[in-house]
Amino acid sequence: KISSSPSTETDADKLLDGLLSSEFDKESCLSRFQAYLYHKVSPHKPSPYLISKLRSYEDLHRRCGPHSKAYKRTMAKLNRFKSKKSNVTNATGSCKYIVWTAANGLGNRMVSMASIFLYAILTDRVLLVEFLDDMVGLFCEPFPNSSWILPKDFPFSDNRKVEIYESMLKRDKENTSKKLLLPSTIGVRLNMYHHDHEFFFSCDHNQHLLHKLPLLIVTSDQYFVPALFMVPSFKKELNKMFPTKDTVFHHLGRYLFLPANDVWGPIKRFYQAYLASAEEKIGIQIRVFHPNRTSYETIMGQVLKCTQNHTILPGFATNISKDPPLKNQILKSVLVTSLYQEYGENLRTMYLNNPTVTGEIIGVYQPSHEDQQKFGDNLHNKKALTDIYLLSLCDVLVTSSVSTFGYVAQGLGGIMPLVLKKLQDNKIPDSPCVQDFSMEPCFHKTPKLDCMEKPIDNMATIFPYVKKCVDYRRGVKLV
Ligand code: GDP
Repeated sequence: KISSSPSTETDADKLLDGLLSSEFDKESCLSRFQAYLYHKVSPHKPSPYLISKLRSYEDLHRRCGPHSKAYKRTMAKLNRFKSKKSNVTNATGSCKYIVWTAANGLGNRMVSMASIFLYAILTDRVLLVEFLDDMVGLFCEPFPNSSWILPKDFPFSDNRKVEIYESMLKRDKENTSKKLLLPSTIGVRLNMYHHDHEFFFSCDHNQHLLHKLPLLIVTSDQYFVPALFMVPSFKKELNKMFPTKDTVFHHLGRYLFLPANDVWGPIKRFYQAYLASAEEKIGIQIRVFHPNRTSYETIMGQVLKCTQNHTILPGFATNISKDPPLKNQILKSVLVTSLYQEYGENLRTMYLNNPTVTGEIIGVYQPSHEDQQKFGDNLHNKKALTDIYLLSLCDVLVTSSVSTFGYVAQGLGGIMPLVLKKLQDNKIPDSPCVQDFSMEPCFHKTPKLDCMEKPIDNMATIFPYVKKCVDYRRGVKLV
């Protein structure tokens, strides 16, 4: 695709069929104007309604975003109400906000940002992201003529002083008088280890309460979009925005997460050097959650068994005289991403030292090997984004179970991956991997209770459009 002549490229291609705004200048974010040359053309077109919602959101963000008059006015007012509870809705103007704060690794952060952005669109809130040093310079600004970065003088940065959502719900439940006194700001924790999910989404009453608050500060590592589809008052809008349900992250991810120039450069160059000329590009993501308890040989064996059983990679030939002629030899490139160097190194050596049964030539490349997950490290996150993005440029993906890192890559790429199954007692399962049925990320921390506080046994049977994830049976994803 990168060799295609400029005359065949239309504006529709460049702006992903209207998903991206045309209001940006080129230099500030090269990937916005170049990424389409590297990705395959997506067969999934954004709906006209989604496009119109994005354009209206951009207007709202421009009007209410950081440094606008409305932002300054609202924050000054909220600051005055900081520790008071009252009927604050009358006190603030038309701008309401939702602040994303980080939890967990980059994949978790990206799926939660996309979820909160969708929530912001549905509730007419302005999304601001609190990027500490480790997140600076990863992504381009997604909204034209404004910024999504939370200003440094944001008055609620010390959110220990903010009431948390659970406590407001508790007061609401105990409240016998008609009017519940509301805080101006609420902290909502939607992490793997907190339980707000159970009360947050699917109930209109709670949404109604939240709707009144001018400012929500959310800490999340979850892809909670499936839960938004369960909220009765959001359903109609969501169905209009996403007639095809399994494209939510694909579109929102491509809209929000354009790599900034410093990250885009290495992505582009790596792609051109090692992937562009291959007949087929195969991405293999090897995420090892318990490196001390997991044998490297077992995982390597699982990767080989999976890729060779599914004819993604050819087996090794035993009879060397069958080596095909040099002419017309097919080159396949394998991109291995892992924290550990051994995986790429070993696969590369195997395919160098052995001919393949098909005669195909297999090049194996691994962009980085960070050895361990690092927190608070900007360069480490840039390498993670480079890996995620390169995976998304592949034709075929093999991912690891329960990894949001892989989810983001498959979503951006629009690819249904083969998922490596979890090892059983450190042994390779009989079928080492399973074909996924949707490119959407899996929502891990699903609600346990419904709005009547009755336990939910199986969300997949109650709500349409969701199915149990292949890699995590307690999770669900959109189909
Ligand atoms: P998850 O834990 O697999 O769901 O994915 P996250 O992205 O949330 O957290 C894992 C983090 O570990 C990443 O963000 C990286 O910081 C690091 N990491 C894990 N696997 C890789 C990899 O293949 N390449 C790079 N560069 N970093 C990785």
